[in-house]
Amino acid sequence: MKKVLIVDDSRTSRKMLRELLEELGYEVAAEAVNGEEGYLKYKELKPDLVTLDITMPKMDGIQTLQLIKKENADAVVIMITAAGQKEKMIQAIKHGAAEFITKPYDKEDVEKILTNLA
Ligand SMILES: [Mg+2]
Repeated sequence: MKKVLIVDDSRTSRKMLRELLEELGYEVAAEAVNGEEGYLKYKELKPDLVTLDITMPKMDGIQTLQLIKKENADAVVIMITAAGQKEKMIQAIKHGAAEFITKPYDKEDVEKILTNLA
């Protein structure tokens, strides 16, 4: 079973994504509430997949993506975005993001994205 690390400052968003990923057969290894914690948990757990919210306090998703990619260039990172974040999405692509999931979550979309990655 593939292990996922969910990094998001919104409790509701983490919960919804956890339920969705578990339904799709993933094991949620951990959740982190900001980029700093997410990076530390990434190093500790070495998950198969990371979901990174773009907007977070302390360390945002773009900075966290850069650190994770520095740690492991092959890390598979999916960015969680909201409407109107085109600029940030372009930055994320530049730094090696594998995919994007847009809030609010759509189960079929998420499933399609994960299938394409596998
Ligand atoms: Mg956020």
